[in-house]
Amino acid sequence: MEYSKLVELYEQLDSTQSTLEMTSILAEFFRENDELLEDIVLLAMGRPFPYWKNMDIGISSKTMLEIIEEATGRSKSEIEEVWRDEGDLGYAAEEMVRTKTQRKLGSKDLTVERVVDTLEKVAKMGSGGGETGKVSMDKKKSEVSALISDADPVEAKWIARTFIENLRLGVGEGTIRDALSEAFFEGEYKESIQRAYDLTNDFQEVARACREGIEKVESLEIEVFRPIKSMLAKKVESIEEGFEEVGKPAAIDYKYDGVRAQIHIKDGEVKIFTRRLEDITEQFPDAVEAIKNHVNAENAIIDSEIVAYDPEDGSSIPFQQLSRRVKRKYDIQKLKREIPVEVRPFDLIYLEGSMIDTPYSQRYESLENIVSERKQELRMVDHDVTDDPERVHELDQAALSEGQEGIMMKSVDAVYKPGNRVGYMVKLKPVMETLDLAVIGAKWGEGRRSGWLSRLKLGCWSEEKQEYVMIGRMATGLTDEELGEITERLKPLVIEEDGRDVTVKPDVIVEAEYEEIQKSPNYSSGYALRFPRLKSFRDDKEDADSLEKVQNLYDGQ
Ligand code: AMP
Repeated sequence: MEYSKLVELYEQLDSTQSTLEMTSILAEFFRENDELLEDIVLLAMGRPFPYWKNMDIGISSKTMLEIIEEATGRSKSEIEEVWRDEGDLGYAAEEMVRTKTQRKLGSKDLTVERVVDTLEKVAKMGSGGGETGKVSMDKKKSEVSALISDADPVEAKWIARTFIENLRLGVGEGTIRDALSEAFFEGEYKESIQRAYDLTNDFQEVARACREGIEKVESLEIEVFRPIKSMLAKKVESIEEGFEEVGKPAAIDYKYDGVRAQIHIKDGEVKIFTRRLEDITEQFPDAVEAIKNHVNAENAIIDSEIVAYDPEDGSSIPFQQLSRRVKRKYDIQKLKREIPVEVRPFDLIYLEGSMIDTPYSQRYESLENIVSERKQELRMVDHDVTDDPERVHELDQAALSEGQEGIMMKSVDAVYKPGNRVGYMVKLKPVMETLDLAVIGAKWGEGRRSGWLSRLKLGCWSEEKQEYVMIGRMATGLTDEELGEITERLKPLVIEEDGRDVTVKPDVIVEAEYEEIQKSPNYSSGYALRFPRLKSFRDDKEDADSLEKVQNLYDGQ
């Protein structure tokens, strides 16, 4: 197909902002150009290869500038000027070709096939550093430059935009899905097409199936070594809301601050993909090793989080540091020692066949059956099943105190929905902004806690009343060590005792975390903190936060 024909499509798409209009323009083109359908679909999205194929064009804007220079004989500063003025390298390419100094006669015709070939060739050349890197970059440049040399001005614009992967058309996955549905099924079966795409992440395959008929589309299935879209989580504000979303009982997992890793095992070989479907197998030889040693399956897809830990003391370290390993393609062995990782599996997507329609609790059980745990290599996530909000709260506290992000709540009987932020799993929103509060009272403990002051009454400062007003009780989640310290600090401040209840001089200020602020008639402030817990002692502070601040936070929730 002549490239100019595709360029006509681009120009048509470019002339409208309306997604509906784009959909019908595309649908018509798909219908009329059956033979190159698979290529057109990708070219229209401006994303020539699925992310997971590890094929990267690797041409930056700066390189494109040099390519335009090479192809048109115009100076860098001229090109840069247009680029700066218009903010679009494609337009710069168009202008430079229009006013090109070296005119070649009898250029070879540009075809879509030739552009696609060049895209593949360029992606296969790689883009490493060093001498070989330079050679391959020079080769890449001359491949693309040859295309631009043979292009007319408008074609040059679209070639430039294609190779820097910025078409500026706004044709997304949804538009392609709708256009395929319109082109082949009179606007029907959008859901089936979406499903096929979620499972394959490959519009070439989906387009091919559309041409063959809806049965083919609906028969597309998950394949190992081809990542599927990860199921995403909704956010909830409270444990109750979590239960409302996922039902009772619910599975509760720790939420780790690591990298989502979709592990594929095929005939014993392992590949790891991120949530963005990038292949990160090379970056994590230690995770691959752990999976080979501790997962007993020939063909499987496992959803997991890769978590980093401190090699000195084993404590978990946050994603920010781990992210260095995700991007890095060299010094992998060194980084592996500096930032070792542990794999934490939490769901099973495939086991000798698709599992996505199997209820979660069964998927989890099957996962447990194929995993043998080993600390600092591979362990199931911390996990429990409960219908008790107190237990959920306890797990949330425990997760937070171990430095994790909190918890996920999951529906025990839900299927696995790829790519969807459905409410089958929810993340409990992390704590709100902390409050600095005065300890205004406490209670002597009983049983194991006798001799200790606990159940701290917390107060904020009321400007109006010129006194502390109560806003909550800090009851759970205090360690023995903290109770000891609290008792020692409060004992000398006791001004009144009434049975086990004591009133203290408000000299100790604590920084409190909590789940939310509620209105409450039970406390003199008119507000109550849900599940307040101790974050730190504020020895640097003499005054607690005001009731006004509490009111503001409440309004902002
Ligand atoms: P967010 O990135 O805030 O939308 O939260 C969802 C992410 O939490 C997932 O994509 C995972 O990377 C991560 N995560 C950590 N632990 C778990 C777990 N136990 N179950 C599911 N996702 C988890």
